[in-house]
Amino acid sequence: SPPLLKISHLKKYFEIERTQILKAVDDINLSISSGETLGIVGESGCGKSTLGRTIMGLYQKTEGSIAFNGVDIDKMNTSERFQMHRRMQMIFQDPYASLNPRSTVLELIAEPMDVHKTCKNNKERRARVERLLEEVGLNRGFLNRYPHEFSGGQRQRIGIARALALDPDFIIADEPISALDVSVQAQVVDLLKRLQKEKGLTMMFIAHDLSMVKYISSRIGVMYLGHLVELTTSRNLYEKPLHPYTQALLSAIPIPDPDIEEKRERIILKGELPSPINPPTGCVFRTRCPFVMAICAKERPNFVEVEDGHFAACHLHSDKPGLARPLAKAPSHEPG
Ligand code: SF4
Ligand code: MG
Repeated sequence: SPPLLKISHLKKYFEIERTQILKAVDDINLSISSGETLGIVGESGCGKSTLGRTIMGLYQKTEGSIAFNGVDIDKMNTSERFQMHRRMQMIFQDPYASLNPRSTVLELIAEPMDVHKTCKNNKERRARVERLLEEVGLNRGFLNRYPHEFSGGQRQRIGIARALALDPDFIIADEPISALDVSVQAQVVDLLKRLQKEKGLTMMFIAHDLSMVKYISSRIGVMYLGHLVELTTSRNLYEKPLHPYTQALLSAIPIPDPDIEEKRERIILKGELPSPINPPTGCVFRTRCPFVMAICAKERPNFVEVEDGHFAACHLHSDKPGLARPLAKAPSHEPG
Protein backbone atom coordinates (compact mmCIF):
# COMPACT_ATOMS: atom_id res chain seq x y z
CA SER A 1 0.00 0.00 0.00
CA PRO A 2 1.17 3.58 -0.59
CA PRO A 3 2.66 5.54 2.31
CA LEU A 4 0.07 7.46 4.34
CA LEU A 5 1.85 10.68 3.43
CA LYS A 6 4.30 11.33 0.64
CA ILE A 7 5.76 14.73 -0.09
CA SER A 8 7.91 15.40 -3.13
CA HIS A 9 10.03 18.46 -3.86
CA LEU A 10 7.92 20.43 -1.42
CA LYS A 11 8.69 24.14 -1.22
CA LYS A 12 7.13 26.84 0.87
CA TYR A 13 8.49 30.31 0.16
CA PHE A 14 7.26 33.51 1.78
CA GLU A 15 7.53 36.83 0.02
CA ILE A 16 8.83 39.52 2.34
CA GLU A 17 8.13 43.15 1.53
CA ARG A 18 7.81 42.24 -2.15
CA THR A 19 11.55 42.11 -2.68
CA GLN A 20 12.86 39.22 -0.67
CA ILE A 21 12.01 35.55 -0.58
CA LEU A 22 12.20 33.52 2.59
CA LYS A 23 12.75 29.90 1.65
CA ALA A 24 11.22 28.32 4.74
CA VAL A 25 10.86 24.85 3.21
CA ASP A 26 13.11 24.14 0.26
CA ASP A 27 12.73 21.02 -1.82
CA ILE A 28 11.84 18.41 0.79
CA ASN A 29 11.14 14.78 -0.04
CA LEU A 30 9.88 12.29 2.49
CA SER A 31 7.20 9.76 3.16
CA ILE A 32 5.57 8.45 6.31
CA SER A 33 4.15 4.93 6.54
CA SER A 34 0.92 4.18 8.26
CA GLY A 35 1.39 3.68 12.01
CA GLU A 36 4.84 5.25 12.03
CA THR A 37 6.04 8.17 14.13
CA LEU A 38 8.49 10.36 12.24
CA GLY A 39 10.41 12.88 14.29
CA ILE A 40 11.45 16.17 12.66
CA VAL A 41 14.23 18.01 14.44
CA GLY A 42 15.96 21.34 13.91
CA GLU A 43 16.73 24.71 15.47
CA SER A 44 14.05 27.38 15.55
CA GLY A 45 13.72 28.99 12.15
CA CYS A 46 14.75 25.85 10.25
CA GLY A 47 11.28 25.50 8.72
CA LYS A 48 9.99 22.51 10.66
CA SER A 49 6.76 24.19 11.77
CA THR A 50 6.24 25.56 8.28
CA LEU A 51 6.67 22.03 6.94
CA GLY A 52 4.01 20.76 9.35
CA ARG A 53 1.62 23.60 8.60
CA THR A 54 2.07 23.21 4.85
CA ILE A 55 1.30 19.49 5.07
CA MET A 56 -1.79 20.34 7.15
CA GLY A 57 -2.94 22.81 4.52
CA LEU A 58 -2.68 25.77 6.93
CA TYR A 59 -0.20 27.25 4.45
CA GLN A 60 -0.50 26.89 0.73
CA LYS A 61 2.55 25.18 -0.74
CA THR A 62 4.68 27.08 -3.24
CA GLU A 63 5.77 24.06 -5.25
CA GLY A 64 5.95 20.28 -5.13
CA SER A 65 3.37 17.68 -4.22
CA ILE A 66 1.68 16.24 -1.15
CA ALA A 67 -0.10 12.90 -1.44
CA PHE A 68 -2.28 11.41 1.24
CA ASN A 69 -2.94 7.67 0.95
CA GLY A 70 -1.60 7.77 -2.60
CA VAL A 71 -3.90 10.61 -3.69
CA ASP A 72 -2.34 13.93 -4.68
CA ILE A 73 -4.09 16.70 -2.76
CA ASP A 74 -4.08 18.87 -5.89
CA LYS A 75 -6.31 16.29 -7.55
CA MET A 76 -8.85 16.15 -4.71
CA ASN A 77 -12.15 17.96 -4.96
CA THR A 78 -13.50 20.10 -2.13
CA SER A 79 -15.34 17.31 -0.38
CA GLU A 80 -12.38 14.92 -0.64
CA ARG A 81 -10.17 17.60 0.83
CA PHE A 82 -12.64 18.22 3.67
CA GLN A 83 -12.64 14.49 4.45
CA MET A 84 -8.83 14.38 4.32
CA HIS A 85 -8.62 17.25 6.80
CA ARG A 86 -10.89 15.36 9.12
CA ARG A 87 -8.29 12.60 9.18
CA MET A 88 -5.32 14.92 9.84
CA GLN A 89 -5.06 16.89 13.03
CA MET A 90 -2.47 19.12 14.63
CA ILE A 91 -1.25 19.56 18.18
CA PHE A 92 0.35 22.94 18.80
CA GLN A 93 3.32 24.08 20.82
CA ASP A 94 1.55 26.52 23.08
CA PRO A 95 -1.57 24.84 24.43
CA TYR A 96 -2.82 28.09 25.93
CA ALA A 97 -2.57 30.14 22.75
CA SER A 98 -4.24 27.41 20.72
CA LEU A 99 -7.29 27.17 22.99
CA ASN A 100 -9.95 29.87 23.01
CA PRO A 101 -9.97 31.16 26.62
CA ARG A 102 -13.73 31.86 26.49
CA SER A 103 -14.67 28.31 25.59
CA THR A 104 -15.28 25.54 28.09
CA VAL A 105 -13.40 22.27 27.87
CA LEU A 106 -16.57 20.68 26.48
CA GLU A 107 -16.84 23.31 23.71
CA LEU A 108 -13.13 23.17 22.92
CA ILE A 109 -12.98 19.41 22.50
CA ALA A 110 -16.36 19.18 20.76
CA GLU A 111 -15.64 21.93 18.23
CA PRO A 112 -14.05 19.70 15.56
CA MET A 113 -17.00 17.28 15.96
CA ASP A 114 -19.42 20.18 15.54
CA VAL A 115 -17.66 21.34 12.36
CA HIS A 116 -17.82 17.85 10.88
CA LYS A 117 -21.29 17.11 12.37
CA THR A 118 -20.25 13.75 13.77
CA CYS A 119 -22.62 13.62 16.77
CA LYS A 120 -26.35 12.90 16.58
CA ASN A 121 -27.27 14.82 19.72
CA ASN A 122 -25.94 16.63 22.78
CA LYS A 123 -25.93 13.51 24.88
CA GLU A 124 -23.66 11.69 22.43
CA ARG A 125 -21.48 14.79 22.08
CA ARG A 126 -21.02 15.06 25.82
CA ALA A 127 -20.35 11.34 26.24
CA ARG A 128 -17.67 11.43 23.55
CA VAL A 129 -15.94 14.40 25.14
CA GLU A 130 -16.01 12.62 28.50
CA ARG A 131 -14.42 9.55 26.94
CA LEU A 132 -11.74 11.70 25.28
CA LEU A 133 -10.95 13.38 28.60
CA GLU A 134 -10.43 9.97 30.15
CA GLU A 135 -8.24 8.83 27.28
CA VAL A 136 -5.87 11.74 27.84
CA GLY A 137 -5.80 11.22 31.59
CA LEU A 138 -8.11 14.07 32.64
CA ASN A 139 -11.16 14.06 34.89
CA ARG A 140 -14.63 13.90 33.29
CA GLY A 141 -15.66 16.61 35.73
CA PHE A 142 -13.52 19.17 33.86
CA LEU A 143 -16.18 19.61 31.14
CA ASN A 144 -17.45 23.01 32.19
CA ARG A 145 -14.16 24.55 33.19
CA TYR A 146 -12.04 27.05 31.25
CA PRO A 147 -8.44 26.74 29.96
CA HIS A 148 -7.01 29.23 32.48
CA GLU A 149 -7.99 26.89 35.30
CA PHE A 150 -5.46 24.31 34.16
CA SER A 151 -1.71 23.79 34.25
CA GLY A 152 0.34 23.75 31.03
CA GLY A 153 0.46 19.96 31.01
CA GLN A 154 -3.30 19.69 31.48
CA ARG A 155 -3.93 22.23 28.73
CA GLN A 156 -1.77 20.23 26.38
CA ARG A 157 -3.86 17.16 27.27
CA ILE A 158 -6.96 19.17 26.34
CA GLY A 159 -5.27 20.05 23.03
CA ILE A 160 -4.54 16.37 22.45
CA ALA A 161 -8.15 15.38 23.26
CA ARG A 162 -9.33 17.98 20.75
CA ALA A 163 -6.97 16.61 18.11
CA LEU A 164 -8.36 13.11 18.74
CA ALA A 165 -12.01 14.18 18.62
CA LEU A 166 -12.49 13.16 14.98
CA ASP A 167 -10.62 9.90 15.35
CA PRO A 168 -7.84 10.96 12.96
CA ASP A 169 -5.28 8.71 11.23
CA PHE A 170 -2.53 11.28 11.14
CA ILE A 171 -1.35 13.77 13.76
CA ILE A 172 1.24 16.49 13.43
CA ALA A 173 2.52 17.48 16.85
CA ASP A 174 4.44 20.76 16.55
CA GLU A 175 6.76 20.97 19.55
CA PRO A 176 4.01 19.72 21.85
CA ILE A 177 6.28 19.68 24.91
CA SER A 178 8.57 22.68 24.34
CA ALA A 179 6.41 25.08 26.37
CA LEU A 180 5.95 22.64 29.26
CA ASP A 181 7.91 22.19 32.48
CA VAL A 182 10.60 19.57 32.15
CA SER A 183 8.83 17.53 34.84
CA VAL A 184 5.71 17.06 32.69
CA GLN A 185 7.39 16.72 29.28
CA ALA A 186 7.99 12.99 29.68
CA GLN A 187 4.37 12.45 30.76
CA VAL A 188 3.03 14.11 27.64
CA VAL A 189 5.45 12.17 25.42
CA ASP A 190 4.36 8.94 27.14
CA LEU A 191 0.72 9.84 26.59
CA LEU A 192 1.29 10.51 22.88
CA LYS A 193 3.24 7.28 22.57
CA ARG A 194 0.47 5.28 24.25
CA LEU A 195 -2.27 6.89 22.14
CA GLN A 196 -0.23 6.34 19.00
CA LYS A 197 0.01 2.65 19.80
CA GLU A 198 -3.57 2.12 20.96
CA LYS A 199 -5.12 3.96 18.05
CA GLY A 200 -2.59 3.00 15.39
CA LEU A 201 -1.96 6.69 14.69
CA THR A 202 0.60 7.93 12.24
CA MET A 203 2.47 10.85 13.69
CA MET A 204 4.89 13.59 12.80
CA PHE A 205 6.56 14.79 15.99
CA ILE A 206 8.35 18.12 15.59
CA ALA A 207 11.02 19.07 18.13
CA HIS A 208 13.88 21.53 18.43
CA ASP A 209 16.34 19.10 19.96
CA LEU A 210 17.06 15.43 19.87
CA SER A 211 16.60 14.63 23.54
CA MET A 212 12.93 13.55 23.70
CA VAL A 213 12.20 12.77 20.09
CA LYS A 214 14.10 9.50 20.30
CA TYR A 215 11.60 7.94 22.70
CA ILE A 216 8.66 8.42 20.42
CA SER A 217 10.02 8.24 16.85
CA SER A 218 10.79 5.24 14.71
CA ARG A 219 12.59 7.46 12.21
CA ILE A 220 13.96 10.98 12.52
CA GLY A 221 14.56 13.69 9.94
CA VAL A 222 16.94 16.58 10.67
CA MET A 223 16.26 19.99 9.14
CA TYR A 224 18.61 22.92 8.67
CA LEU A 225 17.69 26.20 6.95
CA GLY A 226 14.66 24.80 5.15
CA HIS A 227 16.42 21.64 4.01
CA LEU A 228 16.16 18.08 5.19
CA VAL A 229 19.81 17.15 5.73
CA GLU A 230 19.49 13.65 7.18
CA LEU A 231 16.78 11.01 7.53
CA THR A 232 17.03 7.53 9.01
CA THR A 233 15.85 5.27 11.83
CA SER A 234 16.17 6.73 15.34
CA ARG A 235 18.70 4.07 16.18
CA ASN A 236 20.91 4.82 13.17
CA LEU A 237 20.69 8.53 13.77
CA TYR A 238 21.97 8.18 17.33
CA GLU A 239 24.51 5.46 16.60
CA LYS A 240 25.98 6.57 13.30
CA PRO A 241 24.92 10.05 12.29
CA LEU A 242 26.28 10.90 8.85
CA HIS A 243 25.66 14.62 8.55
CA PRO A 244 28.01 16.99 10.44
CA TYR A 245 25.01 19.01 11.62
CA THR A 246 23.37 15.94 13.15
CA GLN A 247 26.65 15.07 14.82
CA ALA A 248 26.79 18.53 16.36
CA LEU A 249 23.17 18.31 17.58
CA LEU A 250 23.84 14.92 19.17
CA SER A 251 26.99 16.15 20.85
CA ALA A 252 24.90 18.79 22.63
CA ILE A 253 22.65 16.29 24.43
CA PRO A 254 23.71 15.69 27.99
CA ILE A 255 24.06 11.99 28.67
CA PRO A 256 23.39 10.90 32.25
CA ASP A 257 25.74 7.90 32.07
CA PRO A 258 29.26 8.96 33.17
CA ASP A 259 30.90 6.07 31.25
CA ILE A 260 29.55 7.43 28.00
CA GLU A 261 30.37 11.02 28.84
CA GLU A 262 34.07 10.31 28.54
CA LYS A 263 33.88 9.15 24.96
CA ARG A 264 32.03 12.17 23.70
CA GLU A 265 33.31 15.44 22.49
CA ARG A 266 31.05 18.42 22.32
CA ILE A 267 31.04 19.93 18.84
CA ILE A 268 30.59 23.68 19.06
CA LEU A 269 29.31 25.14 15.83
CA LYS A 270 31.00 28.31 14.77
CA GLY A 271 29.05 31.32 13.60
CA GLU A 272 25.39 32.16 13.63
CA LEU A 273 22.52 30.45 11.90
CA PRO A 274 22.36 32.21 8.51
CA SER A 275 19.13 33.86 7.41
CA PRO A 276 16.80 31.74 5.27
CA ILE A 277 16.31 34.90 3.20
CA ASN A 278 19.93 34.79 2.17
CA PRO A 279 21.02 31.16 2.55
CA PRO A 280 24.62 30.20 1.70
CA THR A 281 25.28 28.98 -1.83
CA GLY A 282 26.06 25.31 -2.21
CA CYS A 283 25.60 23.45 1.05
CA VAL A 284 23.39 25.47 3.42
CA PHE A 285 25.44 24.23 6.38
CA ARG A 286 28.85 25.20 5.02
CA THR A 287 29.29 28.43 7.02
CA ARG A 288 29.25 26.40 10.23
CA CYS A 289 30.53 23.02 9.15
CA PRO A 290 33.76 21.72 10.74
CA PHE A 291 34.42 19.60 7.62
CA VAL A 292 33.77 22.22 4.94
CA MET A 293 35.55 21.64 1.58
CA ALA A 294 35.95 23.74 -1.56
CA ILE A 295 33.11 21.98 -3.37
CA CYS A 296 30.68 22.79 -0.54
CA ALA A 297 30.42 26.43 -1.66
CA LYS A 298 29.94 25.52 -5.29
CA GLU A 299 27.53 22.63 -5.32
CA ARG A 300 24.49 21.87 -3.25
CA PRO A 301 24.82 18.26 -2.05
CA ASN A 302 22.02 15.98 -3.20
CA PHE A 303 19.87 14.21 -0.63
CA VAL A 304 20.97 10.65 -1.33
CA GLU A 305 20.44 7.22 0.18
CA VAL A 306 23.93 6.58 1.57
CA GLU A 307 23.00 3.27 3.14
CA ASP A 308 19.78 1.31 3.16
CA GLY A 309 17.10 3.77 4.29
CA HIS A 310 19.71 6.24 5.55
CA PHE A 311 19.62 9.52 3.63
CA ALA A 312 21.96 12.49 3.93
CA ALA A 313 22.75 15.65 2.00
CA CYS A 314 26.51 16.10 2.37
CA HIS A 315 29.46 15.95 -0.02
CA LEU A 316 31.28 13.72 2.45
CA HIS A 317 28.69 11.12 1.52
CA SER A 318 28.28 12.15 -2.05
CA ASP A 319 26.73 10.12 -4.82
CA LYS A 320 29.57 11.31 -7.05
CA PRO A 321 32.31 8.68 -7.15
CA GLY A 322 35.76 9.91 -6.15
CA LEU A 323 34.45 12.77 -4.07
CA ALA A 324 33.36 11.00 -0.92
CA ARG A 325 35.83 10.49 1.87
CA PRO A 326 35.27 9.00 5.29
CA LEU A 327 34.32 11.31 8.13
CA ALA A 328 36.88 12.17 10.71
CA LYS A 329 36.02 10.49 14.00
CA ALA A 330 32.35 11.05 14.57
CA PRO A 331 31.14 11.54 18.11
CA SER A 332 30.15 8.10 19.36
CA HIS A 333 26.88 7.75 21.11
CA GLU A 334 25.78 4.62 22.90
CA PRO A 335 22.20 3.54 22.45
CA GLY A 336 20.16 4.37 25.52
FE1 SF4 B 1 29.86 20.16 5.58
FE2 SF4 B 1 30.34 20.20 2.98
FE3 SF4 B 1 28.92 18.24 4.07
FE4 SF4 B 1 27.91 20.66 3.86
S1 SF4 B 1 28.45 19.31 2.18
S2 SF4 B 1 27.77 19.33 5.62
S3 SF4 B 1 29.70 21.93 4.25
S4 SF4 B 1 31.08 18.70 4.42
MG1 MG C 1 8.15 26.25 15.45
